[in-house]
Amino acid sequence: MISIAIDGPSGAGKSTISKAVAKRFGYIYVDTGAIYRTIGLAAKLRNIDAADSRAVISMLPELNIEIEYNESGAQCMILDGADVSGDIRLPEVSMLASKVAAIPEVREYLVDMQRKMAERYDVVMDGRDIGTVILPNADLKIFLTASSEDRARRRYEELLQKGIKESFEDVLKDLIKRDEQDTQRAAAPLKAADDAVLLDTSGNTLEESINAVCGIISERIGSDRK
Ligand code: C5P
Repeated sequence: MISIAIDGPSGAGKSTISKAVAKRFGYIYVDTGAIYRTIGLAAKLRNIDAADSRAVISMLPELNIEIEYNESGAQCMILDGADVSGDIRLPEVSMLASKVAAIPEVREYLVDMQRKMAERYDVVMDGRDIGTVILPNADLKIFLTASSEDRARRRYEELLQKGIKESFEDVLKDLIKRDEQDTQRAAAPLKAADDAVLLDTSGNTLEESINAVCGIISERIGSDRK
């Protein structure tokens, strides 16, 4: 099986780029942020404070989380039998995800789920710790980044397209706060693996970033399958 790890901060374009690249190479795209979002949402639905580690940890054995792929190949998150793929995208849930993601037991709980995907399929897996913790032996690791303003602008436009209204200033503020939480936490902080290829997408169009990533994959792993 081939695995490609794509890590980086929020809004660096990881999910859009990884999705397009997976399609081009015929791999399965695994969005690991969606799994943390699902746990953040589960805490909210149970009125549990996402920063209360004891309460979050005691909720874990009750959860039934599944990753499914629909007919068009999109990843769907199923929480206790319900498809929550839309609900987990709310800005409020982004912050809850970042809070639960700082709890080591939550990360431990999700390790197997993520590794199993890479054992079964050729994957492009995106997240924060894929190259450092989840798939340290990935065939290729890419660390995507971009300036905070560029990332906030992309996130802002993405939310607008989904009909979610947030001011640009709020999006930027949230993103900087989440970056801080993600890079400063003790458990699997966001950082590039020593052997990752660094790619700064500031100022790039989406197409340019996708082509840059595909170029690195073709060079390191082989040519497109499709
Ligand atoms: O990628 P996305 O923005 O959807 O992730 C939501 C949150 O989940 C991140 O801010 C981060 O705290 C957490 N996360 C993580 N490790 C991953 C993926 C996401 O800690 N592999």
